[in-house]
Amino acid sequence: MDLGIKGRKAIVCASSKGLGRGCAIKLAEAGVDLVLNARSEGPLNETAEYIRDTYGVNVTTVACDITTEEGRNKVLAAVDAPDILVNNAGGPPPGVWSDWGQKEWEAAVQSNMLTPILLATAVLPGMISRQWGRIVNITSGSVKSPIPHLGLSNGARAGLTGFVAGTSRQVAKDGVIMNNLLPGQHDTDRINALMTNKSKAEGISLEEARTKTQAGLPTGRFGDPLDFGATCAFMCSEHAKFMVGQNILLDGGAFNSTMG
Ligand code: NAP
Repeated sequence: MDLGIKGRKAIVCASSKGLGRGCAIKLAEAGVDLVLNARSEGPLNETAEYIRDTYGVNVTTVACDITTEEGRNKVLAAVDAPDILVNNAGGPPPGVWSDWGQKEWEAAVQSNMLTPILLATAVLPGMISRQWGRIVNITSGSVKSPIPHLGLSNGARAGLTGFVAGTSRQVAKDGVIMNNLLPGQHDTDRINALMTNKSKAEGISLEEARTKTQAGLPTGRFGDPLDFGATCAFMCSEHAKFMVGQNILLDGGAFNSTMG
């Protein structure tokens, strides 16, 4: 399917690895020029090189922490008139409610709520004036069904979800489409870090922790970051113009419900 976005320009935050990388690759496959971001230069440059070599699109890299004002400004300065924004950042650390005080909550809210809101706020006026834009926020299945040890994620991302629910409906008439993409368990460094914690807590190997967790999913396996990226690219496509303020869950059926 032609996604109708060849030649568009996208910012993909936190995209040297994992889900952000999957989104960047699938946007590049659709002919989109990219600004990629991550903190470490090595993996960022490797991903950029792979995408340039494979898809022939223009790729600019900005190595910085997207959760800081300085980092956001650098990323925004790297592209004139972005058409697409994919918001992403690292997830907060696991723990229990009693582990988290003001400092931990402020960090989680900064990363997983304020950063995507402020980036959207920065690009929205231009998108509205050009009457075309796409914003996809990578959030988490934890927004729909709380994950007990990821309370910081449950809380901070719910705040972002509320912002998108209201704002998406105000900007849709100007051709700007905002939605959230909710990952369940995908095979990335992040899931391996969580599986390492599980293996330590349960006294089992990392491989056993992975096998046990995957067996609990209806698919019997973790999600593929490239499949996730393909859904993201569709949500950034011309064809997504009637999809407004939605929360698209990609969790292999882990959230058990008849509907919704
Ligand atoms: P990942 O494999 O650990 O990759 C994270 C990427 O983000 C890396 O490229 C990393 O590069 C970059 N990054 C992290 N913090 C950053 C920052 N402050 N500024 C700029 N770049 C940053 O993680 P993932 O699995 O793709 O997860 C992406 C998001 O989805 C996270 O918020 C995660 O909590 C959420 N999520 C993931 C899953 C899953 O199963 N994978 C499930 C639910 C939710 P650097 O380290 O070099 O900065």
